[in-house]
Amino acid sequence: MLEHPSAIPSYLDPNHLGPWGTFLQQVDRVTPYLGPLSRWVETLKRPKRILIVDVPIALDDGTVTHFEGYRVHHNLSRGPGKGGVRFHQDVTLSEVMALAAWMSIKNAAVNVPYGGAKGGIRVDPRDLTLGELERMTRRYTSEINLLIGPQTDIPAPDVNTNEQIMAWMMDTYSMNQGKTATGVVTGKPISLGGSLGRHDATGHGVFVMSGEAALRLGIDIVGARVIVQGFGNVGGVAARLFADAGAKVIAVQDHTGTIFAGGGVDTRALQAHVDSTGGVAGFHGAEAIANDAFWGIETEFLIPAALEGQINEHNAQRIRAKVVVEGANGPTTTGADDILHDRGVLVIPDVIANAGGVTVSYFEWVQDFSSFFWSEEEINQRLDRIMREAFTVIWGVAEEHKISLRTAAFVVACTRILRAREVRGLYP
Ligand code: GLU
Repeated sequence: MLEHPSAIPSYLDPNHLGPWGTFLQQVDRVTPYLGPLSRWVETLKRPKRILIVDVPIALDDGTVTHFEGYRVHHNLSRGPGKGGVRFHQDVTLSEVMALAAWMSIKNAAVNVPYGGAKGGIRVDPRDLTLGELERMTRRYTSEINLLIGPQTDIPAPDVNTNEQIMAWMMDTYSMNQGKTATGVVTGKPISLGGSLGRHDATGHGVFVMSGEAALRLGIDIVGARVIVQGFGNVGGVAARLFADAGAKVIAVQDHTGTIFAGGGVDTRALQAHVDSTGGVAGFHGAEAIANDAFWGIETEFLIPAALEGQINEHNAQRIRAKVVVEGANGPTTTGADDILHDRGVLVIPDVIANAGGVTVSYFEWVQDFSSFFWSEEEINQRLDRIMREAFTVIWGVAEEHKISLRTAAFVVACTRILRAREVRGLYP
């Protein structure tokens, strides 16, 4: 209960710390550029709906344990909800709200016809057996059945979720519906209506956006230095594409440690090492360095591709990168964003830098509806075109108003969302 009618719930408080607080600050920054549409801006500061679910499962030893899960619809003005599902021990409601909100902005920034949604379960999936993971995924899917559907809300992979988890989600939803509904999730295996190119799409998009920035800043990708935090589906793929293009991936950090090789690491050998050991630590083709030293490495590109809040007031001052390309969602706090801006470091914000994933998710969803599948070449061509167009439009807005790329991306996205909000009107 609110103590006073004018008291605001804590999650709507702009001083609230954490990812949702960061999102609220980002919205406040963009409001002066929204003109008459700013009268609708409060819409963006309140998620449309939040579902918190209990996810009980029987462990292999017979005991029953409970997890807390979430699915948040941030804004559905432009279309059905779209966004991933994250399994991580640090998942909180504030985080899922922010991630859902960033999906609204991302989908509008690259102009795919979706609203923003996100889900998650607070769990360390490494603690579960495969059978337990399947039971948890299926029970969670049944619990969020209220919200998901091919025309209403379409989940996808995110941190620690993958094609297999999407297959279980699709099967659970389909069994409950009594018919196969491939379009209920994206990021599925190819054998179940998944799309070619989806697995690499986010890393691919990070690479394309980096190339757009390099063109404008006069950086040659050949010989450029790259450092990457996170070597999963985003960081690992982006690193490989950079190396294939002639860049040098000189440092990689993940939850197991940090490695450095001035001449560049062999990204395929590193991927094989990570696949077999679970992390970059112990890789023979590079030296181990202290985690904190990662942030001070001189480089052309820094790609944070792990979790939120990694670039913050404590390390932003030390960063010696020309361009930060946000492969992760929300890796830079607002304070750090300002420090980087003042120091002339270009930040390609998450909402465009990592939008390749949801863009190919959109292609997957369209292909599922028509049951007609495109070639990988067609997919990558369409992906490149959407990414480049988004970058060009947002770069133009940033130049015009002398604002950061993040604020420009928010201007473009919020304008699209709030225009839809306005013409739809309020009902009832
Ligand atoms: N989880 C990814 C993201 O944060 C992909 C979402 C999707 O494909 O729907 O953008």
